[in-house]
Amino acid sequence: MTTLARWLSDHRPSILPRWLAAAAGTPHGANGHSNGVAIHPDERVVVLVAIYDGLISAAGGDPAPLDECLRLARAIRATPGEDELADQIATAQALRRAAIEHLLQEAADLATVHELLPELNALFDRLVETLTGYWTASAAAVLARLRESELLAESLHAATEQADHIALQLSSLNEIGQALAASLDRARLFDVIGGRLHAALNIEQVLLCLPQDGGALAVARSWGAQTLATDALLVGGEGDLVQRAYRSGEIVFEAAPNPAVQSRWYQPGRAVLVVPLRAQDHPVGVLVLQDPAAARLADERAFVNSVASQAAIALENARLYEEVRGFNAVLEARIAERTRELQSERDMLETIHQIGLEVSSTLDLDTLLQNCLDMLARLIGVQHGSIMLLERETDHLVDRAVLGEPRARGYTRFPLGVGVVGWAAQHKKPALVGDVARDPRWAPPRDGSEHDHKTSGAMIVVPLVAHNDVMGALVLSHAETDYFTEAHLRLLTAASGEIALGIYNALLYDQIQQELMRQGERLRNERRAAAQSYAILQSLTDGVIVCNAEGSVMAANPAASRILDIAVEDLLTWHMPELFGRILGPRAAEAPVEDLLNRPHDPQGRPRYFQASFRIQTREVSLSLGPVTASNDEVLGAVAVFRDITREVEADRLKDEFIGTVSHELRTPMTSIKGFTQLLAMGSLGPLTDSQKEFINTIAANTERMISIINDLLDITKIETGSVLSELDIRPVALPDALSNVVGELQPRMAARGQELTLTLAPGLPRVRADARRFNQILANLISNAVKYTPRGGKIAVEAREAALEDVPGDLREGLRPGRYVLIEVRDTGIGIPLEDQERIWERFTRLQSPLTIEAGGTGLGLALVRPLVRLFGGRIWLESAPDEGSTFSFVMPVAAP
Ligand code: ADP
Repeated sequence: MTTLARWLSDHRPSILPRWLAAAAGTPHGANGHSNGVAIHPDERVVVLVAIYDGLISAAGGDPAPLDECLRLARAIRATPGEDELADQIATAQALRRAAIEHLLQEAADLATVHELLPELNALFDRLVETLTGYWTASAAAVLARLRESELLAESLHAATEQADHIALQLSSLNEIGQALAASLDRARLFDVIGGRLHAALNIEQVLLCLPQDGGALAVARSWGAQTLATDALLVGGEGDLVQRAYRSGEIVFEAAPNPAVQSRWYQPGRAVLVVPLRAQDHPVGVLVLQDPAAARLADERAFVNSVASQAAIALENARLYEEVRGFNAVLEARIAERTRELQSERDMLETIHQIGLEVSSTLDLDTLLQNCLDMLARLIGVQHGSIMLLERETDHLVDRAVLGEPRARGYTRFPLGVGVVGWAAQHKKPALVGDVARDPRWAPPRDGSEHDHKTSGAMIVVPLVAHNDVMGALVLSHAETDYFTEAHLRLLTAASGEIALGIYNALLYDQIQQELMRQGERLRNERRAAAQSYAILQSLTDGVIVCNAEGSVMAANPAASRILDIAVEDLLTWHMPELFGRILGPRAAEAPVEDLLNRPHDPQGRPRYFQASFRIQTREVSLSLGPVTASNDEVLGAVAVFRDITREVEADRLKDEFIGTVSHELRTPMTSIKGFTQLLAMGSLGPLTDSQKEFINTIAANTERMISIINDLLDITKIETGSVLSELDIRPVALPDALSNVVGELQPRMAARGQELTLTLAPGLPRVRADARRFNQILANLISNAVKYTPRGGKIAVEAREAALEDVPGDLREGLRPGRYVLIEVRDTGIGIPLEDQERIWERFTRLQSPLTIEAGGTGLGLALVRPLVRLFGGRIWLESAPDEGSTFSFVMPVAAP
């Protein structure tokens, strides 16, 4: 069975109704009769079905059933006429049309149409042929009908061809559309657009022109006749069709363009179709088609436009896709770069954090510096570097931590300001050196070592500054020039603050530790001293009581408790002035605590001391009171020392008693010796030879001297034991009377020594309060000393005037009663007394070495007697003297009440 036979058979249910409808529309079928012979419609259906089936057989190669059918159909007609033949042919043609229409509508593809259409036409030609064979008689009419049929067939053929062409174009468009949609690659899209278009239309030349970066159109690709190179720029003026279409966005067609106004794309003699490519209303390029056949080209306008609009979208998509891809690539590159930056920033922060941890976790400077240095070197990738610290004493930078040599330090030294390191430390600025060979600050280290020094390469130095103070510098170096970057500098600068702070803290910690050790030592010493003082205080046999500036007792030792017979705890509750009031009674003024606390120093700035003695039950106690002052003279309090002097007092008493007894006992025999010597001297026992007289005189003089010593001794004893008081007859004494007695007695001696005496008594001089005999004794001793210790021809002066307390030297004023005084001065031009002996002469038996002392003779008891006597009368005595410049003995005596 042939394809046509199968197709006819398959489409029988569709084509038969069409036939029936078409046959009904023919003249024959319309009125149902022809030339008076009517054919019944059912009969007609039967005939058409038979013809159709006959056609299937004929298409399959067996025409017999069709012929038979046609013969039978003819046989039915009684008198066939010419008209009937025409009707039949018209019906056959209607059938043919219906079949072809159906074929065009229903064919699966154009190939089928191509295959079946000629066969179908041949089949129907045969049908018409057969019919005409029956009707030769009416040939003219038939021929006329036949011509009509041929015209019809021709137009049918043209329509068929056009349908064929349209179908072909549709299919091409569809294919192009699919191909364009399938790719985002511009090169491939070019192939699809131009290649397929060229292939589908069979045009002489197709150009695809796209704008370049600057906006000018250039040939992107050409197909067909190769007249222009790819990328050739297309520049044209007003009349240039390509430019016009591109700018206006309108399709331009010209059958015979003026070659003069076209740019070089144009091939003269060709019709031109330019279709703009527009995406989203803006031009993205043009398609230029050139061909000598103008009509053909004009016909393809719509098709090319369809391709162009699809192509524009595809190209725009590809462009966007490439742009997006470009963006993506840039974005990815940026992300990668940022990731790298972040990583390195993270590493930097991590290192700085580690350094921060290191700084806060260790106070050991060497560990700290070594670890920080290692960390930074690792991160930056260097093998040489060090941390140098500023040595304050020498202002040198000295390496303290060295990379790779944990124990090496102190080899390299730079004075501040010398070398890159010295520069950075001095200016407190970092230095980023690309190549040391080209840096004027560079100086070789002065470490005296043998190894080779760096002479080229990069170096970076950051000063270590804490609290605005340069601690040192961090140095890293690398053999490669320009190795270090700004990022390294940032890292090191960030780290340097932490490191400097670490150094500062570690140094501070060292200082604090040393200070603590010193303070600890001092505290221990102080504790030891305090413990010692306490032990000494506790073991002292003298009683000690200390009060504070307010007078409250702060400390008392067991000896004080024992002497005062008050428990230590009780002593601590006392106020010292009140305590002394209780102990001393009315004599409390002799130890004035409050006065002392208010005024701890005398006018000369010396500490004031007070002495007093008192009895407690059977015990004699001496009391010394003095101030306790700080180094700045601030009064801290007062200290009182009590000494039990019962035994000393007793021993003194016994001694005085002994001396008194001995002196007394000696006086009786001496008086008798003196009496008998006088008798002998007077010659009562017979005349004496000269030598006997001389001996007797010597005996008499020595006896006199002995008696005087004994008297002085007796007097001193009396004063010291206080027994003198019972003998005293205190009354007003007139100074001129007393002086005339004494001077009268001494006059012969002064005359013998050629000395001049001057007496100056102020007028109206009041009388003094004293015992006349003892007052004479005072004057006699002082004036006789002046005589004795002044060489012959010297001058002696005695002056007396009224005086006030202020005339008494400050240190002696203590204890003097306020009131009026008479000042008596005995002045000589004698040998004088050296300063160092001036205190000693008041003691018993003191005699200074000098020729005059030997000549004068004496006991050394005179002044020892004078001073206590003056004090006894409520006066004070002092002296001013210098060797070879004479002496002045001055004393004050209270004026007697009127
Ligand atoms: P003396 O009996 O020796 O005079 P004093 O007690 O009176 O004893 O004097 C003690 C010593 O003081 C004397 O030995 C003498 O050295 C010295 N002295 C006393 N008065 C004077 C004076 N006016 N000039 C120099 N030296 C004096």
